[in-house]
Amino acid sequence: MEEEAHDKYLLAGRIAARVMEQALRKIKPGRKLLELANFVESEIVELGARPAFPVNISVNEIAAHYSPTAWDSSTFERGDLVKLDIGVHIDGYIADIARSVVVGGGENELIRASEEALRRAIEVIKPGVKTSEIGAIVEKTIRSYGLKPVENLTGHMLSRYSLHSGITVPNVRTRHGDMLREGDVLAIEPFATSGAGRVVDEREAIIFRYLRDRPLRLKESRIILGYVKDHFGALPFAERWIAHLAPRHRLHMALRELAYSGAIYAYKILREKQRAPVAQAEHTVIVTNDGCEVTTRREEI
Ligand code: MN
Ligand code: MN
Repeated sequence: MEEEAHDKYLLAGRIAARVMEQALRKIKPGRKLLELANFVESEIVELGARPAFPVNISVNEIAAHYSPTAWDSSTFERGDLVKLDIGVHIDGYIADIARSVVVGGGENELIRASEEALRRAIEVIKPGVKTSEIGAIVEKTIRSYGLKPVENLTGHMLSRYSLHSGITVPNVRTRHGDMLREGDVLAIEPFATSGAGRVVDEREAIIFRYLRDRPLRLKESRIILGYVKDHFGALPFAERWIAHLAPRHRLHMALRELAYSGAIYAYKILREKQRAPVAQAEHTVIVTNDGCEVTTRREEI
């Protein structure tokens, strides 16, 4: 990997880790999700980077893809299992990190299982290791707690301005795997649950991504599409980030038209199939010649 790319991956990782640490301290009973989202995203910009995707704040049985809307009034309640998933980029070089906490504090086996699975996965990563071996380690670790990994959520390769490029990293044993190579950048993200071990789509989407220009009927749709193409390119954006472009009901009509026409991709909110709680742990790593370097660990910037 070129030195400049490497430096930017590391800096993005350090910023993501620092913002994560500050944000976790703000998760308290009665606090608003919207307030936390605004803090996370403004802090990323304050530190000289950009969000690589809207901060995901997914609670209890919601596994991923929840991000507060501009009108969100929901608050953290004592005992909630919160997954905070933060993306940061510098010139397109992305860091992707997630942690889980119980609001008000307390021990949680789901969190411990996902964190141990992540730690064990990172320990074995080096060139020549197959993604199927990582999946097997994640599954075995989580099952040793009497829990299940979420089988239809995976880790993924990162590349410049691309969150999901090329290979995926399963959280269960699979028949076939891809071989890791030096210089690969990977987000490893085990999810543990006491439920079925699968997520299903909710109807609603709050996070989207530009796909292509399409003929559109609504004026607002055309305005929004031009704006998101310019500002976010191929990276995901939140409804909240474009809420200033149209009144609420027109915004929703436009987003529906944009998704329906194939101009944007809608990330449906993902919920555990049996409505059981889910915990997630995630780090970004760069594969080195004899192991891997975790970019998203806390160090002084
Ligand atoms: Mn993530
Ligand atoms: Mn990820």
